[in-house]
This record gives sequence, C-alpha cells and structure tokens, in this order.
Amino acid sequence: ERLVASDASSEDVSLEYSLRPKFLQEYIGQDQVKENLKVFIEAARMRQETLDHVLLYGPPGLGKTTLAAIIANEMGVHVRTTSGPAIERPGDLAAILTSLEPGDVLFIDEIHRLHRSVEEVLYPAMEDFCLDIVIGKGQTARSIRIDLPPFTLVGATTRAGALSAPLRDRFGVLSRLEYYQPEQLSQIVKRTADILEVSIEEEAAFEIARRSRGTPRIANRLLRRVRDFAQVKGDGTITSILAREALELLQVDRLGLDHIDHKLLKAMIEKFRGGPVGLDTIAATIGEEAQTIEDVYEPYLLQIGFLQRTPRGRIVTHYAYEHFGMEVPK
Ligand code: ADP
Repeated sequence: ERLVASDASSEDVSLEYSLRPKFLQEYIGQDQVKENLKVFIEAARMRQETLDHVLLYGPPGLGKTTLAAIIANEMGVHVRTTSGPAIERPGDLAAILTSLEPGDVLFIDEIHRLHRSVEEVLYPAMEDFCLDIVIGKGQTARSIRIDLPPFTLVGATTRAGALSAPLRDRFGVLSRLEYYQPEQLSQIVKRTADILEVSIEEEAAFEIARRSRGTPRIANRLLRRVRDFAQVKGDGTITSILAREALELLQVDRLGLDHIDHKLLKAMIEKFRGGPVGLDTIAATIGEEAQTIEDVYEPYLLQIGFLQRTPRGRIVTHYAYEHFGMEVPK
C-alpha cells in the first residue's frame, strides 16, 4: 500500500476514530467552511430547528467524515453513518430513515454513488421529511405516505460534478474543503502527537506536514511511521533530524512524492522528452492502468504544477525538472 495514498487504509480506519476532533473549535483550518457552519448551527439551535442539509465536497482525507460527526456533536444529536454504495435498495434507506431520532444527522459518504432508485426515495425525505411508499400491484396499487422525524442529511463526495442536479439542489449548505497549508498540517501533526503521547520538535512536525500533500490523513499516517523510527532508533522523541531521516527511508521526498510519482515523471522525461505523451502510452510504459494513473497518480502532480494536461497529451513542466535537478530540454 502507498504511504501517500489519500484513501483510508485498514490501519487508518481503526486508528482515525480516536484522532478525530469532536468540536468545531478543535477542527484545524478550513476557516471559511467552519465560520459558515458555526453561524448555521447557532441559528438552528436558537430556533430549535434541525440544521439544513449539508453537502461537503473535496478530495479524500481532508476531514469530511470528521466534520459530519462534529456537526452532530455541536447540534447535540446522534450521527448515523453510511455510504452511497452500501445502500443497495430503496428499502434499505427507508429502514435507516425511519430509525432516526428527531434532529439526528444522517451521514452518507460517497453520496454520488447512490443508486438512482435510492436517490428518488431521498428527495421527499429531504424536502418534506416523508416517504412515499407504493403498496400492492397493478390496479390495487396505491401510494401511502409515512412521516419521518426531521433530520439533517450530511452528504460527502469527492466529485461534486458527479452528483445529479435534483440531489444537489436539495442541500441548503454546500461547502468545499480545500487542501491544507503546511502550517495547518503542522498543527494537526502536533495535535495528533499529543493524543499519541509522543513528543515532537516543532521543525519535525513541519517536516512531516510539508510532505503530506495537503492532506491530514496522510500527515497522521506519516507521523505514525516516523514515530516507529523514533522509538526504535532514538529515545522516542521525534527530532527534526530523525524525522528527515525516517521520511527519506520511507521514500517520501520533500514535496510528498514517492517512488510511483518518480517512476511516472522520469518515464515521461527519459522516454518521451517530457511529452506531450498520451495517457495510454504512459500506462503501457510504466505498466499501470490508465484509469489508475488518471484518478490516483495524476491529481497531486497536476495540483503542484508538475504535470499539465493538453489536447495532445500530458506534459512534464519545468518545476518537475527542477525538482529532480535536471536540465529543462529546449
Ligand atoms: P474524509 O472523510 O474527507 O476522507 P476524514 O474526516 O476521515 O476525511 O479525515 C481523515 C483524518 O484526518 C481523520 O482521522 C482526522 O483525524 C484527520 N483530520 C481531518 N481534518 C482535520 C482537521 N481539520 N483537524 C484535525 N484533524 C483532521
């Protein structure tokens, strides 16, 4: 498994729960999103109403699940967690909705992957807090309406564009999470170190932060790995020298690139003079699926400006050459 993957590994899943901030005040960064939510939560509480439905979107590992739980905590209600692909039939969703307590938060991760038939049950539920159920068949079929407890739907997606318009329109609050700055990630690393009861130097926290691809999940994972080194090779304290050595051994470079990123970029530079080169050609050259390259490897390289997509194919930019200490071809 890739150390710098933004999706949760099984180890992350079992450890992340204890690392999650519980209230807005402990949630680091995303100031705009936090500020808005704070106002909406306070207003809903003052009116003793449920909070409007919230859609959170942005890349994996930026804190969407965390924020859903925080919303529930701040509202003083329970959160029920599920995901788009986990709800297979309309009846599954009906069962969840009818079991909620008034005011509860229903969190649906990967909401863009809901089945169409399930999504249609969600519309009246979101809008009027009711379910329309058809009973009987043919001539005797009739529709009955079941009232639901009012609830807040918090949806999360990595691809807001993949959401159908009718679903998107039913959210009152749309919040986009951004990649974190190293300063904020550094605070997150220090907070996690505190929880894990390991001491870390300021500079070491920053060293981990800037290699974490703007993503708290990766920062926490790198911290855990570096902590192992500190325990085995040092006296348990994460010093900046130790952090740097450990990250070097783990092959995560100073921008958070790993051997796969290096392989991809170097293949393009050495075999295709930096491009333009088509995605399928790159895939065949490094022996990876084109889809994996596009969805998993490229986004970060595009984001930091090392790659560019053009109609004629991918191009490696001068930033990548400089990063490798190579001369940019004329
Ligand atoms: P997502 O649902 O967007 O994939 P998560 O909410 O699961 O991301 O966050 C991944 C991990 O990163 C969590 O364990 C949490 O501890 C940490 N994290 C995310 N955002 C923050 C934040 N703003 N402050 C502190 N920790 C955070």
